[in-house]
Amino acid sequence: MPSSSPLTISGRGLSSRGPLQTLHAPARSLYVHVPFCFHKCHYCDFYSFVDTQDRQGLFVDRLVSELRALAPHARPARDGGLDTVFVGGGTPSLLAVPLWERLLQEFHGVFALAPGAEFTVECNPETVTPELMQTLVRGGVTRVSMGAQSFESRHLKTLERWHDPQSVERALGIARDAGIARRSVDLIFGVPEQTPAEWRGDLTRALGLLGGQALEHISCYALTYEPNTAMTRRLELGDFEPMDEDVEAQMYRDTLAILRDAGLERYEVSNFARPGAECQHNLAYWRQDQWLAAGPSGSAHVGGQRWKNIPRLTDWMEGVEASGGYSPIVDFEGVDLSRAVRELVMTTVRLAEGMPVARVMSALDDAARDRLNAAAVPLESRGWLTRAPGAWRLTDEGFLFADGVAAELMSAIAG
Ligand code: SF4
Repeated sequence: MPSSSPLTISGRGLSSRGPLQTLHAPARSLYVHVPFCFHKCHYCDFYSFVDTQDRQGLFVDRLVSELRALAPHARPARDGGLDTVFVGGGTPSLLAVPLWERLLQEFHGVFALAPGAEFTVECNPETVTPELMQTLVRGGVTRVSMGAQSFESRHLKTLERWHDPQSVERALGIARDAGIARRSVDLIFGVPEQTPAEWRGDLTRALGLLGGQALEHISCYALTYEPNTAMTRRLELGDFEPMDEDVEAQMYRDTLAILRDAGLERYEVSNFARPGAECQHNLAYWRQDQWLAAGPSGSAHVGGQRWKNIPRLTDWMEGVEASGGYSPIVDFEGVDLSRAVRELVMTTVRLAEGMPVARVMSALDDAARDRLNAAAVPLESRGWLTRAPGAWRLTDEGFLFADGVAAELMSAIAG
């Protein structure tokens, strides 16, 4: 099938056989969702559940079918191939090694990777073995993202995160020795009863892993209480107090200072990297590029349209099988230029590179442009935003209010 073949959304799912709806440029990014986890962490609202191992094989069978159906919509080898692949979850490193071997072999049978492409796999430190890492390297994986969250056992316990803090360094060492050149860890701050000193200790420990050579990228997320999570229920029951906002803001300021000192710059609200080590896949999201998605609950953005795969594993597997590989989808949103420009503002304001002014303004009429400019004035006066001709950027203080700034600007555009 030619790479410019139409992508069509039908009631049953994503199909290239139905009536033509949208022409799109081939996607350069692919997200794959693996829903299995060792245990459900109490703060987590991702689609994931405890792995009983009995459905991994069938899951990979269906995933392979879905990848084959998606492949014609990805940039082919002759045009450069995929720039980024991200396998997230869930805990992809829980997949058995022979299944990883099969998945990667099938992946390379239908997709091409661009030279220097970034291929990330999310890992739980307890599940990392030399055998797994060597398999990933042979399959073209270049980057791992390790869920560390905290180096304090009592905070891991609060989060119901079941790993030994010592296992993070061991896992990163295995990844390095296997030849995974790019390594990241995720940390969480604002955990109930966490002190600023403990958080600074977490950052220092992360930076010192493997003698300071372990990491080039750290993601630091403020704990959020998502609806319908165990953590939120415990908060409502009064099991603990949420973090004081001023203390949490200070933790964020400390994060910036400590990581900058170590040569890791903030390139997005929660993401810090050595120059050149930014996660290209996540940048593709924030810049509102196009990406394909496979696996239950995976979300895609292609040709100005968005959709999500059915989340429930059984439904997704049945849907993929029934349609011969095409993604069973929910929450389809068609092309909507007004929504697209608001989303562009929402995600690019979070980036250190800032909101691309010309791209945003070119999508607006005169009245909306005036409203947007007017909304930026008080944000600039408060010292939260700077307006250069190429991009509007948050200041260090403005990053503390990124969501509020984005909301103000989006609401100005909506009128
Ligand atoms: S390991 Fe990650 S995806 Fe799995 S339950 Fe914990 S936070 Fe959620």
